[in-house]
Amino acid sequence: MLYLTSSKFREPFFFLRKKLNSEIYASCGIEVKFLESPDYAYTQVDCYVKSKDSKGKIIDRQIDSLVLSYLGNILTEAILIYWEPIILSKMINANYNYLRSKEKREISEKVFERLKMQEPCGFPKAVYDRRSQIYNTVLEYLRENGRINIEGFLNFRLRFYWDALENVVNQTADGILWAKEYDDFICLLKYFLESQEPRIKKVHVILLNTGFQLYDSDDNIVAGDSLEEYVAGFEEEEIDSGDLLISALVAIAPQEVVLHLSTEVDLQEAVDILKNVFGKRMVICSGCSRCISVT
Ligand SMILES: [Zn+2]
Repeated sequence: MLYLTSSKFREPFFFLRKKLNSEIYASCGIEVKFLESPDYAYTQVDCYVKSKDSKGKIIDRQIDSLVLSYLGNILTEAILIYWEPIILSKMINANYNYLRSKEKREISEKVFERLKMQEPCGFPKAVYDRRSQIYNTVLEYLRENGRINIEGFLNFRLRFYWDALENVVNQTADGILWAKEYDDFICLLKYFLESQEPRIKKVHVILLNTGFQLYDSDDNIVAGDSLEEYVAGFEEEEIDSGDLLISALVAIAPQEVVLHLSTEVDLQEAVDILKNVFGKRMVICSGCSRCISVT
């Protein structure tokens, strides 16, 4: 579990002091004590407020709900502006410390971009609704305690918020890492394909419910028994039709591939990969007797 220790940065202090003065004091004439630790090692706000009575005498005053709601808003805003980026960067560094800084930066940029979106966009409620949830937790805490140490509060009272952020971080990183792996895989296949001498000019691929068949331009089945040679190295139980189709086509390396796609097949993923790998060397048949024969 990650913890937030001293922030040691000054911006939130300036922000809080300015907001507390301008919003609470200016609106309600109430002074909220704000404790600045000498080395900015922690951030504490005390809510024992004082105000003046009608004769100008300073009196202790109970925090009313108006002040609480001002305070709740200011603290929530400060958490989102100043502490959220720190929490996120700590999480990305801890969960993905095996990645290079460039990749971590990419994850971080994407996470910030996603968090800025106003719509839920597939996030758990705790994320897109985090402002109001943090606000409610701050209010509850202030009512009970009258003072708040923000780092401590974040560590021990806002774990739901950390969990929600972690969910976004992991979801975003998975997407980015998966896309990178996919690109690497396509590059590798392209490299193999380009380094092969084409063994056949043109291959027709007929996709079937049970797999696929390869024919040359004279309607001869291509490869046949020797198809197995293209999948050498696979454990038998690991082979699926998609892998087999990709391996066979990359190994045969035809100058042109014609895909006959008229039937419902579950090889869409392999077809997408092949389109990327073969590029202009692959065409989709717009309808012919081969297509018709498998419908
Ligand atoms: Zn066709």
